[in-house]
This record gives sequence, C-alpha cells and structure tokens, in this order.
Amino acid sequence: MARIGALEAGGTKMVLSVGTPEGEVLEREEIPTQGPQDCVDRMVEWFGSHNVDALGIGAFGPTGVNPSSSSYGKILETPKTAWRHFDFLSAFKPLGIPIGYDTDVNVACLGEVTYGSCKGLDTVVYLTVGTGIGAGVMVSGQLLHGMLHPEAGHILLEIQPGDEGNCVCPYHDRCFEGLAAGPSIEHRWGKKGFELADRPEVWDLESTYLAEGISTYVLCYSPQRIVLGGGVMKQTQLFPLVRKKVLENLNGYLVTPELADIDSYIVEAGCKGDQGVLGCIELGRRALEAARA
Ligand code: ADP
Ligand code: ZN
Repeated sequence: MARIGALEAGGTKMVLSVGTPEGEVLEREEIPTQGPQDCVDRMVEWFGSHNVDALGIGAFGPTGVNPSSSSYGKILETPKTAWRHFDFLSAFKPLGIPIGYDTDVNVACLGEVTYGSCKGLDTVVYLTVGTGIGAGVMVSGQLLHGMLHPEAGHILLEIQPGDEGNCVCPYHDRCFEGLAAGPSIEHRWGKKGFELADRPEVWDLESTYLAEGISTYVLCYSPQRIVLGGGVMKQTQLFPLVRKKVLENLNGYLVTPELADIDSYIVEAGCKGDQGVLGCIELGRRALEAARA
C-alpha cells in the first residue's frame, strides 16, 4: 500500500500528513510557518523519515503552478517577505519522489471533489473565507491555472452604503478579501467574528459581500456547485442569507436545476476542515500514478 505525503502550507501553519491513496489520514503534525529556512529542512526530514512514496503540496499564493513556467513551484510576490521568490517545490526534490504542487485553495477544491461535497462533479468553486479569501477552481476536471492561478478573492465589489474606508486590503480599496475576510470583520466592528454571532447586522452585511462575489463566480465559471469553507463560514447563519442574495443578484437570468435547488448548490465543505489535507493526498496520489504510467 502506497504512503502519500500531504503538505498543506499555510501562512500561519504547516500541516504535514501521511495518508493512503484512499484518503485515510494515518499521521499528522503541525508546525508554525516561520521563515523558509527554519521550517523547510524540518519538513523534508519529516517526510523522509515517514517513508512516503509521493507528496502533494498545497501552497499559499501567489505561487507558480504551471509546470512549463520558470516560476513553477516558487512562492511569488507575497507580503511574507522571507518567502518571496523562495523555490518551495525544489526544496523537496532531495526526497526523490513524485511531487504534485498546486495552491492551497485548488487542493481544497480537489479534496471536495474527491472526498467531500462535490463527488461526481467536474466544475466546482471552493471558496475559503478566513484570514483571507481565496477561491480554488476546477473546470472540466482540471484545476484552473493559466497565466498564474485565479486570485478571485481580490475581485472588486461595490462598497455598501456607510462602509466606505473599511477595506483592509493593502492593494485594493474595495476588494472581496479586503471587505469580507475575518480581519476585515474585526476592523469594521472592533471584535472578532466569533464574538459577533448575535449581531444580525454583521452577517447581513457580510452575506451581501459574499453573495456579490459568489454571483460573479456563478456567471464567470459556471460551477455545478460552490463550497464555502474557512473560519468565517462557521457562522452558519450566513448560508441561507448568501443563498437568498445570490438568487436576488442573478434575478432569474439563469434558469438551471442546480439554482432551483440552491440549498444543494451553495454548500458547506464535506471534508469537515480536512479538505486541504485530503486534496494534497489526492494530488500526491495522482503524481505517483503519473510517474508509474
Ligand atoms: P486561515 O484562513 O488562516 O487558514 P481560518 O480559516 O480559521 O484560518 O480563518 C481565520 C479567520 O476566521 C480569523 O479572521 C477569525 O477571526 C475568523 N473566524 C474563526 N472562527 C470564527 C467563527 N467561529 N466565527 C467567525 N469568524 C471566525
Ligand atoms: Zn485585494
């Protein structure tokens, strides 16, 4: 039985796991994300000593995901300066095993398609609403790359009346992430999201921004289903609000069986927080299969 290594490389922590090709997680360890030199040697040693046959990496972006590009496997223009231009993928080459590499949100999307809420579908958007907002996109069975990869968390939205000046993105004055990720909620209301659970106005505004972003994804990617994950979506009262407002935004323009069953169209993650790890396992499994073909 093959042992597949999984590395979910996030801005705050690195989650290292070993799993089976069937998606059973056998071992797991978390280490804080420090500078690359501090944690990469440790991670290479961990996977080496855990006898993995292949590795799947889901990395924070922006990062090069196109194997034919010179930026493949490198961390690009990140605010985490120690990681800027770090050749992340190459650091794992001494393991001498097949490696699959993609963004953290693309692997979470893959996890949901393989093991979670989107089994059997081939065109799916996975949206995380946490410290940032990021969308992993699969189109016709392929995780979407391109020039770089989608950065759909930074699309521009219409500022709601009275909310001017509240966008916290250093690059944009009215982007989705800057208006609706966890830090933005905290900046606007002066408390963390989980402390605001009983303030309906917070979730009314939040759902308006979420629905505006999601309606745009519906129109641009035509997903068969949209999965919402990340810490902010623990406020599950958001789901019915978002579903209702997405339909209002579309205003009857699209008539499909999927939208007619909106509760099954905009859904919670089926992997219960493990979508990233499970997606990395699937990415590693695919790399192993390709190497053996
Ligand atoms: P990350 O995006 O860093 O991987 P999370 O998905 O856990 O991590 O997102 C963290 C963000 O989500 C923080 O801004 C936090 O305030 C917010 N958050 C976490 N739990 C909740 C909750 N129960 N309700 C609302 N917001 C939450
Ligand atoms: Zn932005």
